[in-house]
Amino acid sequence: MMFCPKCKSIMMPSVQAGKRVLKCANCGFLQVGEMSFTSSGTKVKEVTVIETETDVRPLVDHPCPKCKHPQSRHWTLQTRSADEPETRFYACEKCKHTWREYK
Ligand SMILES: [Zn+2]
Ligand SMILES: [Zn+2]
Repeated sequence: MMFCPKCKSIMMPSVQAGKRVLKCANCGFLQVGEMSFTSSGTKVKEVTVIETETDVRPLVDHPCPKCKHPQSRHWTLQTRSADEPETRFYACEKCKHTWREYK
């Protein structure tokens, strides 16, 4: 990924007068000869997989209505209007049942 040296926007690959260039979609800045190709013409691609599956929702003592497991993951969601009460969500640790409760 290349970023524009002028406005820091993402540079998009483009072809200008038969040449491969990188063009800034924001300010139109052109950069020539910075494509990530090796001399053999093979594109080098490194894929980094970042594990983001960690469950950060707190575990609370709230029994599951389905399987009666005593603990569940709890989180809240605020609806669009600030005057409305937030919706409380629970997800069972055991059977993965998810339900919501209103205050
Ligand atoms: Zn730019
Ligand atoms: Zn359950």
